[in-house]
Amino acid sequence: MKLYSTNNHNLKVDFATAVFNSMPLDKGLYMPVSIPELDQEFISNIEQYTLPEIAFKVASELLQGAVPSDDLKNLIDDAINFDAPVVALDDHTYVLELFHGPSLAFKDFGARFMSRVMAYFLKDNEKTLDVLVATSGDTGGAVALGFLGVPHTRVTILYPKGKVSDIQELQLCTNGRNIHAIEIEGTFDDCQALVKQAFADEQLNDKLRLTSANSINISRLIPQTFYYFNAYAQLKRQGKTELVFSVPSGNFGNIAAGLLAYKMGLPVKQFIAATNVNDTVPRFLETGVYETKPSVQTYANAMDVGAPSNWVRIMDMFGNDFKAISNIIKSYRFTDEETLAGIKAIYNQFDYIACPHTAIAWLALEKYRLENKGDYTGVFSSTAHACKFPDVFPEEIKDKIEIPAQVGALFNKEKQATKMDTSFESFKAYLNNY
Ligand SMILES: *Cc1c(COP(=O)(O)O)cnc(C)c1O
Repeated sequence: MKLYSTNNHNLKVDFATAVFNSMPLDKGLYMPVSIPELDQEFISNIEQYTLPEIAFKVASELLQGAVPSDDLKNLIDDAINFDAPVVALDDHTYVLELFHGPSLAFKDFGARFMSRVMAYFLKDNEKTLDVLVATSGDTGGAVALGFLGVPHTRVTILYPKGKVSDIQELQLCTNGRNIHAIEIEGTFDDCQALVKQAFADEQLNDKLRLTSANSINISRLIPQTFYYFNAYAQLKRQGKTELVFSVPSGNFGNIAAGLLAYKMGLPVKQFIAATNVNDTVPRFLETGVYETKPSVQTYANAMDVGAPSNWVRIMDMFGNDFKAISNIIKSYRFTDEETLAGIKAIYNQFDYIACPHTAIAWLALEKYRLENKGDYTGVFSSTAHACKFPDVFPEEIKDKIEIPAQVGALFNKEKQATKMDTSFESFKAYLNNY
């Protein structure tokens, strides 16, 4: 597999290089030089395959031998060891539940696959890989649990004190082994600044093999294509093949993976990018002007992104053709007030509890339906389990949220985190004294 930079199509690297660099020096993003199309035979019979089988087929086509077949199969069976069911709310509305992994968010797909790909390429007797990650909540948990116990890796997570939910904090701070959590007396931006400084620090880079686990890594994007194909397979079994996917979007990695699947031959009628009031993309699709803004805080805080980092990938896939992009992606934004009303409406109509991000995806699907009649099936993604965002819910709904087993166990564990101020000296000293 060869990948280029979205900023320079002549710069080509292999898969392992793209995985460890995360980002090319020219600050573009890595994309496959050519996007393979799956054979029609496979798509026509896709309902016969399981999620791991589909994942193996899709990954094999994309990776083109970068990981030999047998190794890739083992890697996928290990990484994708949980389900992504579509659940019917009514005859033409399905929710694609992506929260059945260890951290209860869709980021588990990316983090588990990435950690195993990195471990695979590291082999023995190489320097330990130091993964640094700043988190506002969901990313840290997925990365921590994704790398937990993975040989030759060590993870350091920085999170802002008091700004993540209790469950999120426990997911970061109760792992032990190769996972270290640092509670920063500051904001998410402070955490991110510290990680950036560490990557730019020569002495640290001489001493440690640093890498980032953020959502722009190509090995996080690839496994997110799997569940789109698998959703199609599940719905095809029920005779539904005209699909509209609504995806709650922040950095636009999830929907970029859906569009990559589409480019690989997945039949999709329409994608909907659902956002909160951080609406850079809906504004772009309305006006043709791409203008980023500082992010504002919302109930759907994993989508509080003013400059969606994966958007350039989408532009690249469609040759920067505005018309093509605005045909395949419709986009709608929702306020916190609307999000809360959405949570209540889903609960009242379907007896289903959706996290705020999920509710936004449903709202966007409903809005699309008002403007587009037809006999299609709407599939909206549930990107996290509701229990991760308890403070958003009205009491009567909050009381009904079922706590999954993997979370119950967390409450018996002891929180372990190093407290730290926001100075780079403190962080650097910590890393040097590992
Ligand atoms: C990260 C996240 C999102 C946003 O996904 P992107 O790929 O950044 O668009 C949506 N919902 C939840 C719960 C998340 O954790």
